[in-house]
Amino acid sequence: MTTQVGATDRTTVRRFPEKAVKDLSAVNAILDAGLVAHISCVVDGQPFIMPVGYARDGDRVLFHGSTASRLFKNLAASQPCCFTVTLIDGMVLARSAFESSMHYRCVIALGSCEVLEGEEKENALIRITDHLLPGRTDEARKSAPKESKATLVLALSLDEVSCKVSEGDPDDVPSDLTDPIYSNIWAGYVPITEAFGEPVADAMTTEKGIPAPAYIADWKR
Ligand SMILES: Cc1cc2nc3c(=O)[nH]c(=O)nc-3n(C[C@H](O)[C@H](O)[C@H](O)COP(=O)(O)OP(=O)(O)OC[C@H]3O[C@@H](n4cnc5c(N)ncnc54)[C@H](O)[C@@H]3O)c2cc1C
Repeated sequence: MTTQVGATDRTTVRRFPEKAVKDLSAVNAILDAGLVAHISCVVDGQPFIMPVGYARDGDRVLFHGSTASRLFKNLAASQPCCFTVTLIDGMVLARSAFESSMHYRCVIALGSCEVLEGEEKENALIRITDHLLPGRTDEARKSAPKESKATLVLALSLDEVSCKVSEGDPDDVPSDLTDPIYSNIWAGYVPITEAFGEPVADAMTTEKGIPAPAYIADWKR
């Protein structure tokens, strides 16, 4: 199945539909820019939402967790789930608190996960590491069989997806724009940017004087 963005009844954005984005390349760009997703499923009638690191692999997303994790056990049993990636780009200051909001890029995918095994599982683990820690796979120790056995690797196909992007100036109510008080207060937005800091070596690395590898310098947000 190919990715359908906002194409089903339950992925049609109804609140502020002008913020809906149906362009698959925009969806992929958001998923590739994110590091953390929130994935939810219902266990015994109770919805749970957990943050996970993830990577996009073509038309699916991959994530991993402990075989002991309640969330992962339920997802592995094909429970319906909702996967969300949110990037926050700014705080929007309107002339009223009511109209104040945020700039964001957000993707939601609905579906059920598939458990990956064997070579597909190993490749998925590499893909996730390559997304979260680009360059690290070549240097770091590979997972031992015991570690791999304790890890569930799940894939969620990006079949049913929605995307909402909020940007631009505040959307004030017209009366605030002519109000003698509120038309004279500052309004606009304050961008939020995410950045990696300088690498901080652990005690052993410092003691041995091991320099930070060059690939880390390429980590830019
Ligand atoms: C950082 C951030 C902060 C927000 N803060 C608020 C807030 O404080 N109050 C508030 O009411 N709303 C807020 N929103 C918007 C919120 O996510 C919903 O879009 C909104 O509440 C409408 O919900 P609904 O169920 O009525 O949407 P509907 O339009 O009925 O949703 C229908 C379908 O549209 C899609 N959809 C809806 N919202 C999104 C989304 N954000 N991203 C991708 N697909 C979506 C889903 O597939 C959903 O099933 C925020 C969004 C972000 C990303």
